[in-house]
Amino acid sequence: MTAPWEAVIGLEVHAQLLTRSKCFCACSTAFGAPPNSHVCPVCLALPGALPVLNAEALRLAARAALALHSRIAPVSVFARKNYFYPDLPKGYQISQFELPLASGGWLQVDTHDPKGNPLIQRRVGITRVHIEDDAGKNLHGFGGWSVVDLNRAGTPLIEIVGEPDLRSAEEAAEYLRQLRNLLMFLGVCDGNLEQGSLRCDINVSIRKQGDSALGTRTEIKNVNSFRFAQHAIQFEIARQIAVLSSGGRVVQETRGWDDKAGRTVSQRSKEEAHDYRYFPDPDLPPLRIDPEWLQKQQDELPELPVDMRKRFVDAGLSAYAAGVLTSHPAVARFFDAACKLHGDPTRVANFVMSEVMRDSTTDGLEARFTVSPEQLAQLLKLVDAGTISGKQAKEVYSAIANTDHSPADVVRDKGMAQLSDVGELETICARIIEQNAKNAASYRAGKTAILGFFVGQVMKETRGSASPALVNEILKRLLS
Ligand code: ADP
Ligand code: ZN
Ligand code: MG
Repeated sequence: MTAPWEAVIGLEVHAQLLTRSKCFCACSTAFGAPPNSHVCPVCLALPGALPVLNAEALRLAARAALALHSRIAPVSVFARKNYFYPDLPKGYQISQFELPLASGGWLQVDTHDPKGNPLIQRRVGITRVHIEDDAGKNLHGFGGWSVVDLNRAGTPLIEIVGEPDLRSAEEAAEYLRQLRNLLMFLGVCDGNLEQGSLRCDINVSIRKQGDSALGTRTEIKNVNSFRFAQHAIQFEIARQIAVLSSGGRVVQETRGWDDKAGRTVSQRSKEEAHDYRYFPDPDLPPLRIDPEWLQKQQDELPELPVDMRKRFVDAGLSAYAAGVLTSHPAVARFFDAACKLHGDPTRVANFVMSEVMRDSTTDGLEARFTVSPEQLAQLLKLVDAGTISGKQAKEVYSAIANTDHSPADVVRDKGMAQLSDVGELETICARIIEQNAKNAASYRAGKTAILGFFVGQVMKETRGSASPALVNEILKRLLS
C-alpha cells in the first residue's frame, strides 16, 4: 500500500449450520432437491404457522461461538428484521439484534514466514455471533420470467461479525480461510462455497497511517468466494485511496463485486439503506441457556485446528506442512492416524503431502483417500526396514492405491524387495571394480567423486533393486 494510507477491513460472515432440518421447522435442508419441495406452512409463512427453534442449530451455533472464545448470553432474543423481497415469504428474517447469542471473542489466525519456520499467530476480534434464518432463492431468465425456490428459506445460519482488525486483502482472505477451516473442524458448517454455505459482507475503509478514528466505510455484500473477496478488497482499497488522494470523500454505501469487470459497483447509498424496523419476535420466547448444557458444549469441543498446528510444529513439522495437513479436517485425521501407526511425523507428512493429498478428493466434510492410514504406515515401514527404496515406495503406493492390498504383498508378488544380501552384493561390487580397474585406480588416487560411477554400475547390474546405502558402504570398503 502507498505509504500514508492504512486499510481497515471488517467482515460479517454468514455460515450455514450443518443441520438436517431447517431452523424453525422440520423441513429438510438437503441441497439440490426439486424446487419448492422442501417447504411447509412455517417456511412458506402461511398464516397461523408458528416457528420452533431447532435444538441442533442452537448446539452448532453455541459450538462455533465457544470455539471463537465468545461469551454466550444466559438469555438472548430473536428479532424480526423486516424487509420486502420476493424470496422472503414472511416479509422478515428471524435474526438476533440487541441481545445476540454470543458477544466478544477472537479467531486466532496462523500464518508463517514464507522463508521458513516460525508459526505466526495473531488474534482477530469477534464482535458477536448470532443465529438467523436464510431467505429463498430468486432465479431469473425462465422464458422471460423470474421464479423463486423456497427450499433454502428457513435454513439455519450463524452470522459471525468480526472487529475491524484486518489490514489487507490478503489478511482478510486468510481470516476467511481459517474461519471456514475452524467451522469445518467443528462440524458446524460444510464449508461448501459453491453451494453458498459460507458468504460474507465485506466492510472496507481507509485512513491515514497512525490515525485512530475509522474512516467512512463501504460494504460489499454477499461475496461467496475467497478469491472474489480478496480482489474486491484490493480494488476497493485502491478506489478509496484514489478518491481521498484527489481531495474527494468516500461515500458510505453498499457496493457489489462485478468479477467480469474486475471492479466494485455502487448499489445503494446510506440514504437508500433499509430501515429494518427490528423488534423482538413475539412468536419465539427468549432463548435461555442452561449453564450445565453450556458446560457440556464446552467440554465436547474437539481439538481446534490452531492447537493441532501447534502440536504438529512441536512434533517437528514446518509451519507450512502443519498448515497443509490441517487444511481439511479429514486430512488432519488421516495424518494423525498414520502418525500413530508409523511414529515419525516428518516421514508421514512428506509422503502424505507429496503423494496421498495429490490423489485424494474432498467434498464438503467428506474425503476420499487412495490408501488407508494402515496401508501408508506399513508402506513406510517397508522403507524403514530397507526392504524397498524410497523410489520403490512410490511404485508400491501406485499399486495399492484404491485397493485393499497390503504393501508387503505387493512387494512380494512383484519381487521388488531390495537386494540387501551383503555377500551377494559384495560379489557384484568386486566384479565391477575388477572390470573398471582404471576408475578404481583414480578413486584410490583421491578422485573419490568417481564412487558415483560405481554405484550407478551396481544399480544397473541389479536393475535398481540393490539397497543404495549398502552398495555405498561395500564399494567404499572394497575400494579403500
Ligand atoms: P452493519 O453493517 O449491520 O451496519 P456494523 O456497523 O456493526 O453493522 O458493522 C459491521 C461490520 O463492519 C463489522 O464487521 C465491523 O468490523 C465493520 N466495520 C465497521 N466500521 C468499519 C470501518 N469504518 N471500516 C471497516 N470496517 C468497519
Ligand atoms: Zn418448513
Ligand atoms: Mg453490515
